[in-house]
Amino acid sequence: MKRITCRYHCPACHGHFSSVNAFDAHRVGDHATGRYCDEPADDERFTALSERGVCRMHSVERVGVAVWTLAADLQRARQRSGGNLFAPFEAGKDREAA
Ligand SMILES: [Zn+2]
Ligand SMILES: [Zn+2]
Repeated sequence: MKRITCRYHCPACHGHFSSVNAFDAHRVGDHATGRYCDEPADDERFTALSERGVCRMHSVERVGVAVWTLAADLQRARQRSGGNLFAPFEAGKDREAA
């Protein structure tokens, strides 16, 4: 059972993101009015790579978190990998710890 891992953790809203693009996209607003965090679940630009991802950004591992990516990025990744949409996110370090 492979797991999706949080790569870019937001310290403000504790959102979990698989790419820096997705992380950047959830930070909205301008510097004049203040930047704030968008809610990925309410934004169609985002899609959850997994609803049962893993976040190791804390001292205690958290399992069962939603890890977000950009829908457009996922589409591109899926095309590159010939249909296996999770392949680009299943590098060695995402395997279960021994
Ligand atoms: Zn955030
Ligand atoms: Zn996280």
